[in-house]
Amino acid sequence: MKLGAIEAGGTKFVCATGDEKLNIDKRIAFPTTTPEETLARTIAFFKENPVDALGIGSFGPIDLRPESPTYGYVTSTPKPGWANTDFLGTLRSALAIPAAWTTDVNEAAFGEMTLGVSQADDTSIYVTIGTGIGAGVVNRHALYVGRTHPEVGHFILHRQPDDTMVSTCPYHENCAEGLAAGPAVNKRAGMAAKDVPADNPLWTIEANYIAQLCVDLTLAFAPDKIILNGGVMHQTQLFNLVRREFSELLNDYVNTPPLTEYIVPAGLGEESGVIGGLALARETRRSN
Ligand code: ADP
Ligand code: ZN
Repeated sequence: MKLGAIEAGGTKFVCATGDEKLNIDKRIAFPTTTPEETLARTIAFFKENPVDALGIGSFGPIDLRPESPTYGYVTSTPKPGWANTDFLGTLRSALAIPAAWTTDVNEAAFGEMTLGVSQADDTSIYVTIGTGIGAGVVNRHALYVGRTHPEVGHFILHRQPDDTMVSTCPYHENCAEGLAAGPAVNKRAGMAAKDVPADNPLWTIEANYIAQLCVDLTLAFAPDKIILNGGVMHQTQLFNLVRREFSELLNDYVNTPPLTEYIVPAGLGEESGVIGGLALARETRRSN
């Protein structure tokens, strides 16, 4: 059986094929441009490299209620051209194969659960701190979906008193994404986040915001593990800073595993999403 994965980010698309053991055979990446051009490239890849089932993780917001008339659509995204795009339907009619459809972070959470750092955990949360902030929640080995998918990137946080930067989120003055995603770090620092030295005090502010998010996730979902990934987390000094701030903020109100095992980097690095897509494709194929 050949499996396919799509990790559809707002900046780039990754398409891959793999086998039933989730080994990646082929992988391409290209920039996310218009829906027409981007989906045509995606379809062309899977016509050249046919697969039996597909796992798709998309940037959002997306519609993932199977009973909805717009199931499989990217819905209200501010990304130019992409609002109300029938992503899943376009692929299904071109490729005529079973396809799993979820958010990009759910896909990555599923990858980490299947082959990554959260394999032994019943409940885990995968958080990306990149161009945006988002999280996928695995609850007892299944992806958590409510009326729609969680949007924890827009949790409202307490702003640090000396932080005067204007939020980068057009909706919220004090949300996690607006205060702590990559673009917010770039703006606060006045330079690319990757160039800010590890000992800059700005990382303590950043760690406090990420820790607030982790506290709220802990209180809401009581997970066994919180995985932090995404471009900003390449600043690996953040892990200990986040754990320290988290410990102060939570103030031992609830029990967690030891923080070095609780707030952790991804096990699959950049491949969480693609491996998760292959795993979702495998699951879809088995149930079809
Ligand atoms: P995306 O979220 O679009 O999939 P990334 O996860 O790579 O992409 O996140 C991109 C963001 O991460 C950018 O805003 C960038 O400033 C930030 N970033 C990338 N590399 C680093 C780094 N080494 N240190 C800190 N921030 C980084
Ligand atoms: Zn927001």
